[in-house]
Amino acid sequence: MISPGFSAAPPTVDLPPLDFIPEMIPTLLRGLAILPAVLPAMLLAQAQPVPVTTAKPGWQWTMDSVTTVVNSVRAGRSLQPASWPGGARAAVLLSFDVDNETIAIRYGEPTIGSLSQMQYGARVGLERIVRLLDAKRIPATFFIPSVSLAITPGMADIIKKSGRHEFGVHGWIHEMNATLPDSVERALVTRALADLTRMTGSKPTGYRAPSWNFSPNTMSILRDLGFRYESSLMADDRAYELLQEGKPTGIVEIPVEWILDDAPLFNPQGERYSAPRDVAQVWIDEFDKAYDEGTMLVLTMHPHVSGHRSRIVALELLIAHIEAKGAGKVWWATHGAVAEYVRKEAKLGEPVRR
Ligand SMILES: [Zn+2]
Repeated sequence: MISPGFSAAPPTVDLPPLDFIPEMIPTLLRGLAILPAVLPAMLLAQAQPVPVTTAKPGWQWTMDSVTTVVNSVRAGRSLQPASWPGGARAAVLLSFDVDNETIAIRYGEPTIGSLSQMQYGARVGLERIVRLLDAKRIPATFFIPSVSLAITPGMADIIKKSGRHEFGVHGWIHEMNATLPDSVERALVTRALADLTRMTGSKPTGYRAPSWNFSPNTMSILRDLGFRYESSLMADDRAYELLQEGKPTGIVEIPVEWILDDAPLFNPQGERYSAPRDVAQVWIDEFDKAYDEGTMLVLTMHPHVSGHRSRIVALELLIAHIEAKGAGKVWWATHGAVAEYVRKEAKLGEPVRR
């Protein structure tokens, strides 16, 4: 079952705990049914590092394989509402992925320096961001790996103080889902959901994959754990329903995009570094089109990135622009509030059990 030329050592896979085995059976059966079609992707996903040359190029796939792979998880019907609450012309959804030290630890080789750079998010960045949001009475969603919150549990009270913000699941230790077998990914998300519920006092309804790394198993795991919305995929500017293998799931997607993420453009060691005031202009242009089209702006930021003095200027500029242009005509909302609003307006009903 291994492609010719495959020479990487077999991956080391931890056996799942016994109590996960019964839950895995339906997933395993479904997985076996589509195995021939998705085998190249699964090999890439589960056996990293794998030489890219072992993947069967697309021109050698059958059309059945193409159809199976693209339909694994795909955008369904648009959930764009006819109108936003209070007659608003557009919705603005700010999210902050509170990764902090988990980014340095997840691959198992943290350095003292990288840990300190990430600790800035917990020690300085988060409070600076929350201060700005709360002064402006703007709600936001905070997706937090539960290990990040366990390292600095006081962050929960800072976020909860205004009563406006929402917590969302962002993995256990910012794990890369596509490198994990189903049992391990499932165990980590299950634990993250329980940890976050315990540490924040409320059960999150939304999930964002760490690094937006959505594995072939993620969709089934989210459905089994009862999540109501997801926010890691990129097929639209508007909310949409996720389909799994062509069938409606009742799960709302709040789509993201790399052009609406602070991390790549603000990396001073990266090839795409942009000055924060230039990045603010990109966000402003995105908002202007959302406002013209009556849709929504979803922005992803990080306390360890945008919490810096010269970078929070970009968020300040965006908020000032929105307040000036859209005064009284913009719905500032959490991801969860928007997900439930569009669910109701579109008569989507409850998430569909598998
Ligand atoms: Zn993250």
